[in-house]
Amino acid sequence: MDEIFAGISSFLESGKVSELKTPCYLIDEKKLDSNGKILASVISHTDCRILLAQKAFSNYDFYPLLENYISGTEASGLFEARLGKEEMPGKEVHVFCAAYRDDEFDELLTYADHIVFNSINQLARYGKYAKQKGKSIGLRINPECSTQQEHAIYDPCAKGSRLGVTRSVWDKEMTDDIFELLDGLHFHTLCEQDSDDLETTFKAVEEKFGDVLQWMKWLNMGGGHHITKSDYDVERLEKILIHAKKKWGVQVYLEPGEAVALNAGYLVTRVLDIVENNGVKIAILDSSAACHMPDVIEMPYTPPLLGADKGDSKPYRYRLGGPTCLSGDVIGDYTFDRELKTGDVLVFGDMAIYTTCKNNTFNGMPLPDIYRLKDGTVAERLTGFGYGDFKHRLGS
Ligand SMILES: *Cc1c(COP(=O)(O)O)cnc(C)c1O
Repeated sequence: MDEIFAGISSFLESGKVSELKTPCYLIDEKKLDSNGKILASVISHTDCRILLAQKAFSNYDFYPLLENYISGTEASGLFEARLGKEEMPGKEVHVFCAAYRDDEFDELLTYADHIVFNSINQLARYGKYAKQKGKSIGLRINPECSTQQEHAIYDPCAKGSRLGVTRSVWDKEMTDDIFELLDGLHFHTLCEQDSDDLETTFKAVEEKFGDVLQWMKWLNMGGGHHITKSDYDVERLEKILIHAKKKWGVQVYLEPGEAVALNAGYLVTRVLDIVENNGVKIAILDSSAACHMPDVIEMPYTPPLLGADKGDSKPYRYRLGGPTCLSGDVIGDYTFDRELKTGDVLVFGDMAIYTTCKNNTFNGMPLPDIYRLKDGTVAERLTGFGYGDFKHRLGS
């Protein structure tokens, strides 16, 4: 808990937080830098390459910092590919999309250098053309090896998953002509997992796809590696990466999102009101789970909150909820050392990932401004939002 808020403690002590219009996100530059250093050390120990999966974090003001440590960006489609190309120029741009479309493909090729297809149909449809344009071509495989049960919506190996080519489909559909196009294979099966699960998954990949892997130039092991978490087994990861490179002769890529910006952001919010229902005390905040931290509901999870406990260790218990009309706009139940009151400032941790790039204006909620937290002491406003950001998405 303390570790999660260490980067913002001086700023809070200075009292400057009370000057911020809430809700707002603070992105912790120092924490991004220390995450970057961990990733750079994996790169230097193993000769792998690491890409930022932009769907988790795409606050491009920090790309000049991150590009000191990592090899490029990974995109889920046209816009992220363009952002990566524009904001991390000169670095690699990889793209994976479940299905590409004709009307975007040419433009996509102007940004991306590595194109990963999700099916043999798509590879057959676009692969030759992309190859002629000098692109490196990959196919996402599905090793059918589920290693986590906690977050079923994040399990691409579940039965019936649309993501990646299973070996039986490969055997049915792959032809020599199509195979010849391939430079690399890609798998992405993990979510917030340690390297023991990568080891299990990679064994499954070797068993199912070893005969084809030996012909590849590169292997992308996707994201979901919790590399920058304090208890992550980096040594085991490095062993796997070195083994893969040596045994199969491939350039290994990782494309973590979460690990790049883990614990590198805070959401600062204020208490607007306290209400009570059947003995439950509820604080209504000026930030919404549904709008400003959507993964709290989607994943779901309860985010860390400074000075509060998710368990029962403190005397005053509150449910924290947002100002929207959604009954389920609840962030979670926490206990505190003292009673909450209207106007109190609360600070949620680990709010850099899947937040600023995933929030929304449901209920006409304003989007929180975004600040850079410099040296842990100065908050510099990067961007702000208003009525126009709500309205322009909706009509003429
Ligand atoms: C989501 C995703 C990532 C990043 O996942 P994290 O859990 O944020 O590390 C990387 N690659 C692909 C293909 C993804 O879908």
